[in-house]
Amino acid sequence: MYVLFAVVCAYLGYLWGRHVVQSTSLSTADANRRESSIEETTDENVEADREQIQSLLESIRELTNAMGEDVGRHSTTLEEVTATLHSAGEIPSSAILEATTRILEANKDLQTDLANARAEIATQREQLGAMATQALTDPLTGLDNRRSLDQELKRQVARVNRHGSHVCVVMIDLDHFKKVNDRFGHLIGDELLRTVSGLIKRVMRDGDFVARYGGEEFACILPNTSLEDSQIPAERIRCEIAAHSMKVGNANVSPTVSIGISECTAGDTVEQFVHRADQALYAAKGSGRNCCSFHNGQRIWQIEMGILHPAKMDQHADMSGVTA
Ligand code: GH3
Ligand code: MG
Ligand code: MG
Repeated sequence: MYVLFAVVCAYLGYLWGRHVVQSTSLSTADANRRESSIEETTDENVEADREQIQSLLESIRELTNAMGEDVGRHSTTLEEVTATLHSAGEIPSSAILEATTRILEANKDLQTDLANARAEIATQREQLGAMATQALTDPLTGLDNRRSLDQELKRQVARVNRHGSHVCVVMIDLDHFKKVNDRFGHLIGDELLRTVSGLIKRVMRDGDFVARYGGEEFACILPNTSLEDSQIPAERIRCEIAAHSMKVGNANVSPTVSIGISECTAGDTVEQFVHRADQALYAAKGSGRNCCSFHNGQRIWQIEMGILHPAKMDQHADMSGVTA
């Protein structure tokens, strides 16, 4: 009877240990999946991030191995106790008491070790998540960065080519931004970039994707939006920024932006799609800045007070290699 009790205790302890190890290796598998998704986006610029991620993953692996050893030791203890009880003929009650005490202690130790290991793995997973986010975020503005934009563009162009849905890209470039830096310094320039990014984000819909393209350029991806419909949010961005002024000492900085829009058509590559928006942006600059232009695949049109005009720089629309 007592022997049976002890064996049942031992078996339950063993099962519990196995359960925890299985759920822990799930955490590790999850971390490994995250590692492979991070690897897809790796380039030279994030080599340092990658090394940190590798080292975090290595410590998770070590921790998991150590936990495996803990569970192994625990099982050995239980097997020893079970074997002792089996081999004994007449078992004195003190021996049974000692055996059950050993089993309970072993279970408690294992529980503590596994709880600590779980907490450590949770912390490391959080760190991995934060690093993955950081690799796709522009540190100055908090917007998605160029790398994240490139990924999203690839996804959206693939979606159009597969399902024939609409997607537009809106390229936004601050006008005469160099003058702001030259007159007020780079710190004020940086502040203006943050302000403008906040204004763009504020006027866009939740499902739209806003990124810093680089320097003083931003890009928005508008999924499920036609070229015609994309003109409304583009004009909203332009007006919102033109209406804003930032006080610097006694001076006022009044930013404006030029905007170029294109829609992705079936068969487009990311480069062709973005290139047309760039050409439209270039035309908007040539038309005097603080305006929106769009490229409809044949020619560039300029939006003026809600009315469309052929852009002044439209003759460049057919020139390959023209960029803003
Ligand atoms: P345009 O109207 O033709 O676009 O003129 P622009 O002066 O805006 O364009 P240009 O390409 O001549 O100058 C862009 C400037 O943006 C130059 C560069 O120093 C500045 N810039 C790029 N990145 C940053 C940044 O992160 N912070 C600051 N403060 N300035 C930046
Ligand atoms: Mg520029
Ligand atoms: Mg500019």
